[in-house]
Amino acid sequence: MQKSIERIAGDSEGVSYEFPVLRFDGSDKAAPSAYLQAALHAGELPGVVAIDALMPMLEKAEAEGRIKGDITIVPQANPIGRAQYHFGEHQGRFHLGTRTNFNRGFPLLAAPDPTLLPDAAFGTADQRLKTRLLQLSIGHDIVLDLHCDDEGLAYLYVHASLWPAMADCAAAMGVDAVILWGEDTDGTFEGASITPYLNVPADVARFDRRVATTVEYRGILDVDGALAGADAEGLYRLLVGRGVVLDQALSTPGSFTGIVAPLENIDMMPAPRAGAVLYDVKPGDRVAKGALLATIVHAPGEADGRTQVFAPQAGIILTRRSRRIIRAGEDLLKLVGDRKSADARSGTLED
Ligand SMILES: [Zn+2]
Repeated sequence: MQKSIERIAGDSEGVSYEFPVLRFDGSDKAAPSAYLQAALHAGELPGVVAIDALMPMLEKAEAEGRIKGDITIVPQANPIGRAQYHFGEHQGRFHLGTRTNFNRGFPLLAAPDPTLLPDAAFGTADQRLKTRLLQLSIGHDIVLDLHCDDEGLAYLYVHASLWPAMADCAAAMGVDAVILWGEDTDGTFEGASITPYLNVPADVARFDRRVATTVEYRGILDVDGALAGADAEGLYRLLVGRGVVLDQALSTPGSFTGIVAPLENIDMMPAPRAGAVLYDVKPGDRVAKGALLATIVHAPGEADGRTQVFAPQAGIILTRRSRRIIRAGEDLLKLVGDRKSADARSGTLED
């Protein structure tokens, strides 16, 4: 394993950022290659500790000559967001300088050609970081972007063109659900990882072995040794299953039996009032149409001081907020409905 340090200059003199890149050289240039990154939203740490638990498995494979494809790992992809504290609260989702989500605004290239990337010397620090991350990842057959939600199940976002070809990956990782999406106009990292391959010849796109996904490793507080170990084993099974690492002792996972739904089936349930949220459901619950999802206490102690929110359709609770304070219009939860949401917000994935 080789470690190198990437440097991103800050937007003012005297400031710069750096992050490590860990690489394994594969022995077989025909084998699929893999790129893993975590904490693009800098406070989302379940993927960081999963990578920490994965590394000894990869180092053992390397010592035994079992690394077939090149592997590039960026355990903490966002040193800019990592350093952002505002009145004692960490702010790792949006760049404070530009108010741009760190998982938006990636360049959507017309082809998988690094020369099409913007000049990494120009733009604000967050833009230059995005260009560099895409430059590091592009060309890998497998691209995994490890995130987490507020509170939630383990689930994947997958572009519809890669499904069901990626069902083996979902089974290997042991996730609960897969959300399929069709178009990214906002430039998520996942969108920037798959869009360049959508309009190139099939022998370049290689969808038979391509993997691109945003992995949502449950909730922001699910930073836990046992979960990290299980997630690392899932990542390792994926790498073995796809031929990046050789391990004949590993049994192949069964077929994927979790939830698969298009993004348009998700109901986000905006809160009708501001107040304190009392949830009646948790991630994983199956609900019927009309079931009570949450009660918002907006005028404590007063008659009519509570407003109830009901399920607009039957489905599974995928996520809910990690905090119980809410403003009117903010989303209460993600309900994966059995059919298209009446409130379907078309377009990009929700991370
Ligand atoms: Zn995220």
